[in-house]
Amino acid sequence: MKISRRDTLKGLAAATAVGGLAACGRSTSPPAQTSRNDFYDVVVVGGGFAGVTAARDLSFRGRRTLLLEARPRLGGRTFTSEFAGHRVDLGGTWIGVEQPFVWAERMRYGIGLAESAAFAQPQQGIYLAGGKRHQVTPEKYAELFASGARKFLAPAQEAFPRPFDPFFSKAYERFDHLSSAQALEALKLSQPERDIVSGFAAINGHSHLAEIGYLDQLKWCALGAYDPLRLFENCARYRLEGGTGSLLDAMSNDSRAEVRLSSPVTAIVRENDTYRVEIEEGGSVGTRAVLLAVPLNVLASLRFEPGISAEKMAASRERITGSGTKLYARLKGTQPVFSAQGPDKTPLTFLWSEYVDEDSQIAVGFGPDPKLLDVNDTEAVQKAVAAFVPGAEVLESTGYDWNVDPYSQGTWCMYRPMFFSKYLRELQRPEGGLYFAGSDIANGWRGFIDGAIESGMSAARQIHSALNS
Ligand SMILES: Cc1cc2nc3c(=O)[nH]c(=O)nc-3n(C[C@H](O)[C@H](O)[C@H](O)COP(=O)(O)OP(=O)(O)OC[C@H]3O[C@@H](n4cnc5c(N)ncnc54)[C@H](O)[C@@H]3O)c2cc1C
Repeated sequence: MKISRRDTLKGLAAATAVGGLAACGRSTSPPAQTSRNDFYDVVVVGGGFAGVTAARDLSFRGRRTLLLEARPRLGGRTFTSEFAGHRVDLGGTWIGVEQPFVWAERMRYGIGLAESAAFAQPQQGIYLAGGKRHQVTPEKYAELFASGARKFLAPAQEAFPRPFDPFFSKAYERFDHLSSAQALEALKLSQPERDIVSGFAAINGHSHLAEIGYLDQLKWCALGAYDPLRLFENCARYRLEGGTGSLLDAMSNDSRAEVRLSSPVTAIVRENDTYRVEIEEGGSVGTRAVLLAVPLNVLASLRFEPGISAEKMAASRERITGSGTKLYARLKGTQPVFSAQGPDKTPLTFLWSEYVDEDSQIAVGFGPDPKLLDVNDTEAVQKAVAAFVPGAEVLESTGYDWNVDPYSQGTWCMYRPMFFSKYLRELQRPEGGLYFAGSDIANGWRGFIDGAIESGMSAARQIHSALNS
């Protein structure tokens, strides 16, 4: 979406044109020092999928809405880019049939599906176990993966009888103290099962097993229809045609909210019953309500006057676990379409064929820790790829370090042990006119695009009804 002065004016005009401002209930007067043009019903901070969804939905309801985004682009932890002649996603990529919110948006805007080569035309399964490389049929590979993962994730149904309603039962409490390392340790698994499951669990949490709560592994499985194979399919099979940017553009172009890019918010200050939102390099806007749709890891870097709850700040400082790597590597020549997996401490614990071209293949890979692999070091990438595909020649590779980006400070969300019990409800709780949204605090697919949309949608509904009352 190009945001120009014209677009800004269009946003203003549209907000007024729907006539919603008057129709939507009590209006609060801007404080004396804020001009009418700089006063909004709602300011949304953060233009990832959560913020874009919320801003769109609020604008549809006639709320005068401003979306402030720190980066010069929307999309947050999704970012469609070009690599080796393909539109690739450097952040969030795959969506699944069990993901109702993103699936519905895709249908609403008529965005087509593309399929990973490793799912569409699988030819080879590769895994590292007991220090050796093994090559099997895709069916055998799926069987091995499923047998270990089913044992690891067996209590998923008990912990989350309603996957989109995580607090429906208290049974989750039995598992929240465990790390993924402890849960795995307690199981009797064969060596291949253990090595495969450890890599799978490490990639789910995008970190080391001791850091990652076991409960979220169960949560993911519950969301994937209680079946590790279905879970994997939801995480790795379908891409949006044209990349996630095509859905994001469709949603933001449909929105009537005003958008300001390159506008990092530094502080939110309460002034009687309204708020002043301060933007880096000067300037501020006034509003009746603020939706914080920034990554959880970023929340603590904002200043709140008066302060928000100590638990929210503590959760932000403890951080979500996602801090690993993702890369694309172009491999020379033709070769079988493969899926490969290694144990948790391998530089890449997953690598598979994503695109197949005439004279090369693009593989996508994930690792648990940037210290184990610098994705921009072609030699290191070559070595990591060769562990799975001996003789493969890496022509070029690319990746993005989300950990050093101040506006993400990490990758996707899994929680640490006890994080769920201690923080989730509190992270979702509004404080006065401050509301919170984002994939990192969603009820369903927390850590996914689907969760971001769910959370943004719920926040918009909540804010709209609060402003009405
Ligand atoms: C490498 C990687 C791979 C992934 N793979 C998948 C996948 O295959 N499928 C899937 O569903 N999900 C995947 N995810 C997760 C998914 O991308 C995210 O969970 C989701 O996009 C988060 O959306 P969000 O709106 O909650 O947060 P974000 O997308 O992080 O949006 C938050 C926004 O807030 C902005 N912001 C931050 N600070 C400020 C500030 N001070 N002022 C103003 N704006 C600010 C940021 O710039 C950003 O735009 C992946 C993520 C990564 C990083």
